[in-house]
Amino acid sequence: MAGGKTIYVAGAGIAGLTLTLALAKFGANVVVLERAPSIQEAGAGLQLSPNARKVLNRLGLDKAIAGQSFAPEGIDVYAFRSHAPQATLALGEAASRRFGAPYAVMHRADLADALYRACRRFANVDMLFGVRGFDAEPHARGVSITVEEADGRSRSGRAFALVGADGVNSHTRTGLIGEAAARYSGHVAWRATLPIDALTGVVANDRTSLMMGPGYHAVIYPLPHRRLVNVVLLAREKRQPMQDDAPKGPKLPWAMLKSQRFEAVMQAAGDSWGFWPLLTVSAKRWHAGGIGLIGDAAHAMLPFQAQGAAMAIEDAAVLAPLLMTEPDADGAFSRFAAARRGRVRRVAQVSSSNGRIFHMQWPFTMGRDTVIRLGGSTAQLRRLAWIYGYDAAPEIEGRGG
Ligand SMILES: Cc1cc2nc3c(=O)[nH]c(=O)nc-3n(C[C@H](O)[C@H](O)[C@H](O)COP(=O)(O)OP(=O)(O)OC[C@H]3O[C@@H](n4cnc5c(N)ncnc54)[C@H](O)[C@@H]3O)c2cc1C
Repeated sequence: MAGGKTIYVAGAGIAGLTLTLALAKFGANVVVLERAPSIQEAGAGLQLSPNARKVLNRLGLDKAIAGQSFAPEGIDVYAFRSHAPQATLALGEAASRRFGAPYAVMHRADLADALYRACRRFANVDMLFGVRGFDAEPHARGVSITVEEADGRSRSGRAFALVGADGVNSHTRTGLIGEAAARYSGHVAWRATLPIDALTGVVANDRTSLMMGPGYHAVIYPLPHRRLVNVVLLAREKRQPMQDDAPKGPKLPWAMLKSQRFEAVMQAAGDSWGFWPLLTVSAKRWHAGGIGLIGDAAHAMLPFQAQGAAMAIEDAAVLAPLLMTEPDADGAFSRFAAARRGRVRRVAQVSSSNGRIFHMQWPFTMGRDTVIRLGGSTAQLRRLAWIYGYDAAPEIEGRGG
């Protein structure tokens, strides 16, 4: 690799790959440590909001994403047991025009692939897969890192910084920075990807559908490039079920089974559900010296506003130029935390409060449903303009270009 700053990135998920691409464009030498043997190929759908898309476009991925994603016209919101949507909230052209980038949905493996291919074009990126473990020691001149590679060999190096983008159960956070383990949120997500026509007649196949119920909600959207429809059912569950004692599919209370639409979704999904206990992270420190955190490793949130990956992408856009321009990594991570903490906290709060709103019980639902009906189709674009209209991307040009 050529001369210049060397930065290690732990984790080749959405946060890690976006950061790697941004750093590579600035000319850093990036070493990526990924535990999995290859880039994520499985998985489900992802809603990619304009704030995230603007960053990815600036990194040169607009065409690759446009070719693999779909921009739903709107969100049909169904109150519990209602036959028709209470409202259709505008997305499509209205979102694109207002925020300068589309609100799209895509398969997360396609996004990972687009990012990975873009990173691979840089000779200054070294990706290590199947990494068994890593350790790091910050000191005055940077960070010393030891990596146990896939074949068991050990490799050591000195770097300007190590960035932990290693997800909700981050080793960087718990093992190297000494912050707490992730906490179970009291919610689980059930996900299924079904053939594209599996829900024809149940929900519209050119829009996203949000179905609300007491203690549950479901989000459904098409992934036309994969000929799939993505279903996520999010439910309250007091005790954290473990993967080996997890039920085969969501067990809806009797009240839910009186909703024909929920029942139709359950039937269509059969036993194809996958199961995720939802964990959250609120780390007090996002860095220790030259070791820092981004994405879920720093601030995993409930997915009820579909913003976790978007925050990870924004993080990468903000951190990359700071790492390139600050004289020491501790300073870069401090400025990063100052720039990001408030926004991430506020988005996490909106996500949690969505859970309370979506899962309301009667009679509170009457007030909620009236507000949704009266709000009109663009109320949520106005309410969420501070999320979708945010532009982390100029920081890439402004500070590092
Ligand atoms: C049900 C559900 C639906 C969601 N929907 C959306 C949505 O629509 N839109 C949205 O923006 N967000 C959504 N999210 C949130 C989003 O998935 C996450 O916020 C996002 O994936 C975080 O990216 P990350 O790169 O920080 O972590 P991850 O994607 O978890 O990536 C971490 C990477 O680090 C690797 N790794 C872990 N440990 C180690 C180790 N010790 N050494 C080396 N590598 C390691 C992992 O293998 C992985 O590749 C959803 C989440 C859930 C649960």
